[in-house]
Amino acid sequence: MKKWLKYFLNRITAPKYKRSGQCKQCGECCRSIVLSDNGKEVTSIEEFELLRDKYKKYNHFEPVKHNEQGTLLFKCKSLDDNNRCRDYFFRSLYCRRYPDIDKKFILAGGVLLDNCGYKIEPSKKFSDYLD
Ligand code: SF4
Ligand code: SF4
Repeated sequence: MKKWLKYFLNRITAPKYKRSGQCKQCGECCRSIVLSDNGKEVTSIEEFELLRDKYKKYNHFEPVKHNEQGTLLFKCKSLDDNNRCRDYFFRSLYCRRYPDIDKKFILAGGVLLDNCGYKIEPSKKFSDYLD
């Protein structure tokens, strides 16, 4: 009984994922940005142009390349040639929190970029819940 109680308390209260490591300031996340419109990822220059016409803020991004899934990746124009952010003190909340531990993103198979200095892992092993 005590074990089950502990198991359920763990399920309800314990954080599911933890972030470790640190930023290597490679700038990769600022040039591998995925944009979406109504939940659909932008996959072509034409879609990007439509999005940019609707929302002027998207002028701040420039297309770089497609990833293996066919999604178009963008570079933020605030990134300088030394991988530094020109708008560091005024960067968005999204940038400040990156890489955020977003459970939905993780459960959908989302991963960090190759060579990112951070890691996101389950905070406990399955067997720890049973101990
Ligand atoms: S990809 Fe990771 S290590 Fe590189 S700048 Fe972004 S957060 Fe830092
Ligand atoms: S505002 Fe700065 S931190 Fe945010 S994506 Fe652009 S370059 Fe990167």
